[in-house]
Amino acid sequence: MCLKLNFITFQFFISISRHLTLDENSIKYERQQEEMVKKQIEARGVTDPKVLSAMRKVPRHLFVSEALRDQAYGDFPLPIGEQQTISQPYIVAEMTQALQPGEDDRVLEIGTGSGYQAAILAEIVFRVYTIERIRSLFVKSRKLFDKLHYHNIVTKYSDGTSGWAEEGPFDGIIVTAGAPEIPNLLVSQLAVGGRMVIPVGDRYSQNLVKLYKDEHGIHKTNLGGCRFVKLVGEYGWRES
Ligand code: SAH
Repeated sequence: MCLKLNFITFQFFISISRHLTLDENSIKYERQQEEMVKKQIEARGVTDPKVLSAMRKVPRHLFVSEALRDQAYGDFPLPIGEQQTISQPYIVAEMTQALQPGEDDRVLEIGTGSGYQAAILAEIVFRVYTIERIRSLFVKSRKLFDKLHYHNIVTKYSDGTSGWAEEGPFDGIIVTAGAPEIPNLLVSQLAVGGRMVIPVGDRYSQNLVKLYKDEHGIHKTNLGGCRFVKLVGEYGWRES
């Protein structure tokens, strides 16, 4: 009897300590996430409440490998495998704000990668369409979207430089890889009133360019320097 009770008590403690570890982890990440939003994002001038609330909500540590979780809320990009990276949190926030996302919007993303940027958008807009050209990243991000119940993210495995004509026109298009020039097909899939954000430049540095399409044509603004991995495809860089 006594032995049995001891065994039950022991089991009870094991299960409590497991829960504690889980809770401690989530509390630790919650703190890091709040600090990330305050010090890296609000402090640098991002003000859109929808963007700030999405950055507070999406668990960035789940979008990187287990070994990198403790660095997930740092002020830098991180490797996600296949020589690709998840962007620095501030860049994600800045690009999302520049896109002026609204709750009824349909947004196209080129370069799913880890899926983090798509998840941030999915917290704000009606539906996100995202294209990835590397199969392992496409499969991994799809699984994560399902696990986190992001049912408003539609994924596709292909070269995104020609867009997704069947689903266009889009209210927003965000390209999260650096392009040598702006692919015309993407511009043609932008709705009137639509916004596009795309890094354009050479292989080593780019400018973040914002396009706005109205009934008169396309208006371009330069948002400043940035550095992204290459947009590789028919209307991007050639594979090398
Ligand atoms: N938005 C991602 C950033 C990933 S890095 C995130 O939040 O993690 C850029 C991604 O663009 C890489 O995964 C790369 O494979 C992908 N990519 C590059 N060229 C592409 C193309 N032509 N079509 C689709 N994806 C592309």
